[in-house]
Amino acid sequence: MELIAVSVQCPHCWEHFDALVDPSQGDQEYVEDCHVCCQPLLLTVALEDPESPQVTVRAENE
Ligand SMILES: [Zn+2]
Repeated sequence: MELIAVSVQCPHCWEHFDALVDPSQGDQEYVEDCHVCCQPLLLTVALEDPESPQVTVRAENE
């Protein structure tokens, strides 16, 4: 299964990075460290359209 890179913006440092989403997992929520500042982020993936997942990013400690 192919991973889809989705550009997201970190709520800590405001940099953009690509989150890799596995569309075979359906809607999902997981923690990933920001690729730039390494703060833990809670990523919520909505797969209404499996070809272009919507990813919402929140600070994990909020
Ligand atoms: Zn960051």
